[in-house]
Amino acid sequence: MANDLSGLDGVDGYGSAIRKRENTNGRDLSYPPLPEPLTVPVYDNHTHLEIADGEHPLSYREQLDRASSVGVRGVIQVGGDVETSRWSAAAALIEPRMLAAVAIHPNEAPALESAGTLDDALAVINELAGQPRVVAVGETGLDFFRTPEEGRAAQFRSFEAHIRIAKEHNLALQIHDRDAHEAVIETLLRVGAPERTVFHCFSGDADMARLCAGRGWYMSFAGNVTFKNADNLRAALYAAPRNLLLVETDAPFLTPLPYRGRPNAPYLLPNTLRGMAAHLETDVSLLSAQITANTELVYGRWDAEPVTAAFAGAGDDPRPEQTPRGGLA
Ligand SMILES: [Zn+2]
Repeated sequence: MANDLSGLDGVDGYGSAIRKRENTNGRDLSYPPLPEPLTVPVYDNHTHLEIADGEHPLSYREQLDRASSVGVRGVIQVGGDVETSRWSAAAALIEPRMLAAVAIHPNEAPALESAGTLDDALAVINELAGQPRVVAVGETGLDFFRTPEEGRAAQFRSFEAHIRIAKEHNLALQIHDRDAHEAVIETLLRVGAPERTVFHCFSGDADMARLCAGRGWYMSFAGNVTFKNADNLRAALYAAPRNLLLVETDAPFLTPLPYRGRPNAPYLLPNTLRGMAAHLETDVSLLSAQITANTELVYGRWDAEPVTAAFAGAGDDPRPEQTPRGGLA
């Protein structure tokens, strides 16, 4: 196997993934073929290159090389706990096609609260939020699907803290909202939403899209907008103003049709984008241009802050101890 995955345990540096996708039962584990390249490039608003998937997992550089070859110009690499947030921030420092988002995922917050370590974890997120090429706080929010009643107080506390961190550092906020629309909106209004607020993997209906539009909140659509049973999502897409649209893979999850269930990757973003354009009865290139402009308004340009010069040409496996910011390791 060409890819060095010795880093799966997190010991061997940032050249490869540090997590592995669990649910492999009965899935087709082969990566889908490359789509036809886009004429106008776009960015993946939300991806997890720290998670290895597939029969032959790809390193983040291979993932980004494939993405570049089909017109996916860059990604927001998203962390969900202290370790993956550190990985995201460190990888973005050496990879020009990557910017980072850092957070404690809402489904992680309750366990940390029980262990008495949520505040320590939030302090790390706050520190990472001040680093170059960290452009968003996320994914944070509320998940009433996977977290039972007793964990919700911790989720609210964590979400509110993340909103404050985003505002303090003037970063965008990436929201995870699963079966918690009303509570997420109520929290944003009560605490005060950051200037750039993004619903990652938007899951609301047309009414919610109109409500978000009224507040200037961005809506990022993922591969599930192509699913056969997703009429509600497509109605939301139709209701959302074009200047608030973003697109994402949430890879390795939510692979767009016709590859549902197989490993997802940033290079499959064109499939979702083309599905959106078809539904909106618009030209793919026009939609790409609009989404690229929106994405750069939310996060800035990928080359606004240069990658760490010492490692700009580094090999495939930069070690944590080589990063000049000692606080990362
Ligand atoms: Zn995610």
